Amino acid sequence: MRRPIIGIAANEIEDAGARLYHLPISYTPCGYVKAVQNAGGLPMVLPVGPPELAKDYIDQIDKLVLAGGQNVSPSLYGESIQVEEALLSQERDQFELALIEEAVRQTKPIFAVCRGLQLANVALGGSLYQDISQLNDTKISHMQVPISREIPTHQIRTEETSILRKIYGEKTTVNSFHFQAIKKLAKRLKMTAISEDGIIEGVESKDSSLAFLGVQWHPDFAYDHLEQEMAVFRYVVEKL
Ligand code: MN
Repeated sequence: MRRPIIGIAANEIEDAGARLYHLPISYTPCGYVKAVQNAGGLPMVLPVGPPELAKDYIDQIDKLVLAGGQNVSPSLYGESIQVEEALLSQERDQFELALIEEAVRQTKPIFAVCRGLQLANVALGGSLYQDISQLNDTKISHMQVPISREIPTHQIRTEETSILRKIYGEKTTVNSFHFQAIKKLAKRLKMTAISEDGIIEGVESKDSSLAFLGVQWHPDFAYDHLEQEMAVFRYVVEKL
């Protein structure tokens, strides 16, 4: 049987300078690539490009993975930038919005991580909090730096009969590396995991014409340390 082709939307960065003299690099974190390979899928990294290429890329793949990275441009949900030093990429936003639109049109499943979940929510009509540390007066930190990326730091509770309940059980702990979070959830999506301070941490599709799973934590940071974070990639490759 042919391996499922999993398209992973890439990011761009400039080398810090020590090795490659500030060379601009197109990349995705190895966690996505290795976890998809371990799960029996064939990862295909999709470099940031003009939105017109989205259809040709989606034609080639079976499923789309949206990775973490920059903040989503607030203009996409009708707000001005309210955070200092907001790290944005309009080019990546526009390319990934086109990938999402085309994947939805072709009914190809989408697995979205962190920024990917935020962008997909915006693409489907939802909105975001730009910085949850400003609204959140509980003791939960959603940005765990400098704690190591594979270490879970806060609890979540999953909804009954959700995909996430099957993989993670009713309660578990996850890592957390986000400033932004979902404010208004898009109509076609439902919340299926929540943190103790009420932040939406997991999202799935409400309607059968859209296969969607999104998580606010990073399974790609922990797939080789925690069985449940590898299990979610197996679910994506085999079942989503
Ligand atoms: Mn979190």
